[in-house]
Formats: sequence, structure tokens, C-alpha cells
Amino acid sequence: MSICPKNRTSKARKNKRRANWKMGTINLIKCSKCGALTLPHRVCKNCGSYNMETIIDNSEAKKA
Ligand SMILES: [Zn+2]
Repeated sequence: MSICPKNRTSKARKNKRRANWKMGTINLIKCSKCGALTLPHRVCKNCGSYNMETIIDNSEAKKA
């Protein structure tokens, strides 16, 4: 058995509900290697490291 709505949600009611969907402030953390502000659980854009390990080597990209 699935849910069976008795009444159709009006455009006004739907829009009033959705009016409260706002963007929150993004959480930034300091990179453990270089100290730059980065998104958590992401490889640092500045030095290309994650969890003190170099994932993306920026020095190679500069040579090519
Ligand atoms: Zn970094």
C-alpha cells in the first residue's frame, strides 16, 4: 500500500513550502598541509593533497 493523498496540494501551498528552501552557508576547513580554506572531504585545490597525502601533483602540470 502506498500513500494516497486525499487532497491535491495547491500551487500556493506548494510554493509557500518551497519558499523556505534556502541555501545554507558552506562549511570551509583549513588544509592540514598548506592552510588554505577548502571544502571538507575534498582534495585541496591549492596543494592537491588530502589527509596529508599528495593526490594531485601540481608540479607536473606546471612543466607540461
Ligand atoms: Zn592544501
